[in-house]
Amino acid sequence: MKILLHICCAPDATTAYKRLSESNEVVGYFFNPNVQPEEEYLRRRAALEKLAKIWNFDVIYPEYDPQRWFKSVKGLEDLPEGSKRCQACIAMRLRQSAIFAKENGFDAFATSLTTSPHKDVKFINEIGIKLSQKVGIGYIPSVFRKQNGFLESVNYCKELGIYRQNYCGCVFSLPKVLI
Ligand code: SF4
Repeated sequence: MKILLHICCAPDATTAYKRLSESNEVVGYFFNPNVQPEEEYLRRRAALEKLAKIWNFDVIYPEYDPQRWFKSVKGLEDLPEGSKRCQACIAMRLRQSAIFAKENGFDAFATSLTTSPHKDVKFINEIGIKLSQKVGIGYIPSVFRKQNGFLESVNYCKELGIYRQNYCGCVFSLPKVLI
């Protein structure tokens, strides 16, 4: 199958890409307008460019448009991490990935978000399946963190010298000392 892999960050992409590419053609899609500030977005993008170069795979980098993201979480800004704000954020990124996959001849889409131990994989897979039905494109449900997937990602990053961020991405998730 030809799969569009929504990549949230290079560390999470390691395990997800390795596992999916064992039996599929995989192209990355770095759609993350949730990441602030822009310097951090560029740092995460550069980390993925480095990984993609080492492992020799293609990644698409859509335009960085944080205003679009702020609109998608309007009214939810004050909610804590793991709340409806994160659900809206994840749904927005997966919706765009599903549409792009459909419009560009992919068989299915997937996301690297399930490598993280901090993410609600049940919600991610439920919304992935709903979008798949709505948009008319396949979705590959995953729990990449299983079978030591998260530990694997940490080890890949150490081995390859890939930057690992210390917060989820949006301005609301920035460590207090940095705000
Ligand atoms: S904490 Fe992470 S998942 Fe939640 S809204 Fe911010 S960037 Fe999105």
